[in-house]
Parts: sequence; structure tokens; C-alpha cells
Amino acid sequence: MGRLRYKRIGVMGGTFDPIHNGHLVTAEEAWKQFRLDLVLFVPSGHPPHKEDRRSLDAENRYLMTVIATANNPHFQVSRMEIDRPGPSYTIDTIRELHRVYGKNTEIFFITGADAILEILTWKDPERILEECVFIAATRPGYDLRRLEESLPETERARHATDPRVLVMEIPALAISSTDIRRRVSEGRPIRYLVPEGVWEFIEKNGFYR
Ligand code: ATP
Ligand code: MG
Repeated sequence: MGRLRYKRIGVMGGTFDPIHNGHLVTAEEAWKQFRLDLVLFVPSGHPPHKEDRRSLDAENRYLMTVIATANNPHFQVSRMEIDRPGPSYTIDTIRELHRVYGKNTEIFFITGADAILEILTWKDPERILEECVFIAATRPGYDLRRLEESLPETERARHATDPRVLVMEIPALAISSTDIRRRVSEGRPIRYLVPEGVWEFIEKNGFYR
């Protein structure tokens, strides 16, 4: 079914510890600007690069993501990375999505511009750029040369004619999960930084105190 209906899928991967309005604004903007059929939020299971900090368990991060996206008809949440044992790698997720939705579905991987720099220095950047297009959220005024310089050598030449990294400006970029966790621990408000259901869920369960 999905095979037939979805031609352009946006993927928003993240720890979502917790999900916040920056993620949601970014996903909605990408959906509109790049005419996506759907944005799939994929909470990570065991983030390979975030071992330094103990994150909230995957199930509660997943639930907050569901609560935050439930009222948006073109947002969905995937358990793919949560249910897969071992560390989560972007490339494995993108390949699995191609298996599920078929080769004709185009995958748009939505991230912050800084996260792109990170991903492109991980595992197999060339292969990743073969399998999906990136949508990079930047602050208004961000220096795009930094992003271009980070592309692998082989990509730079191609980039001018067939851009695999698209850019969009997002005004809510200053919001971060780190700041939200700190605010909760200091008893400061997070209302209006995350959806109402999410701060109620955090409060009810006493997360991040
Ligand atoms: P942390 O502070 O714990 O690193 P975070 O706020 O960066 O959390 P993540 O779950 O790490 O959230 O981010 C998931 C994805 O969302 C990443 O691609 C990240 O670049 C992007 N992102 C994070 N915050 C914003 C924001 N305010 N606006 C747009 N994109 C964001
Ligand atoms: Mg981050």
C-alpha cells in the first residue's frame, strides 16, 4: 500500500529526548517546501554517537514523539530503529525504507545543518548520498560554504548540477533538547517550546528532574 501512495518521504531521525517545536517546525517546513507526501519521525534506539550521556529509554522517547505528531495527518512515527538491536546507523535506516517503500520512492533525510556535517563524516558518505537527498535546516544567515566544503570530493563536482543536499532556513533553530532537559532540571518552563501533550507527559512522569 505504502509502495503506491508515497513517492516522496521525508525522514526525521533523532534522539527526541524530548521532541520539541524546533523538530516539528522543521518537518512541517520541509513537507511544504519540498512537496513531501509524508514525514516519518524515526526515534533512535541506541545512538552510536551519544553514548556519553544516558538518554531516556527508547519507549518513552517514542511515546513523546507519537504524542507530538498525533494531530498532524502527514506526520508518522516509525519504530524501525527502536526495534532493531544494536546501534542505529542512518544508512541502515535509509536502506530499510527503500526495501519497505520500493526503489521508486525518494527519501529526503531532514536534519540540522550541523548534523549533516556529522553524518557525512560517519560511515559511507558516498553511499548515503546515493540513497537519499538531504534537507538541511539552517539558521537564517548560515554560511553555506561550510556545508559544501564538507561534501566528499566526488560529490562536490556533481553538487552544482544535481544537488543532493537541499537547504532551508528555519527560524526556530535555537530550541534544543539539551536546553529543554536543563530547563526542567532547573524548574524553568518548557511550555511553548514543546507541544502541550509533551510537557504534560514529562511533568506527569517526572522526567529530567
Ligand atoms: P540534543 O540537544 O540532545 O542534541 P537536539 O535538540 O539536537 O537534541 P536531536 O534529537 O539530537 O535533537 O535532533 C534530531 C534532528 O533534529 C537532528 O537532525 C538535529 O540537527 C535536528 N534539530 C535539532 N534541533 C533542531 C531545531 N531547533 N531546528 C531544526 N532542526 C533541529
Ligand atoms: Mg542534537
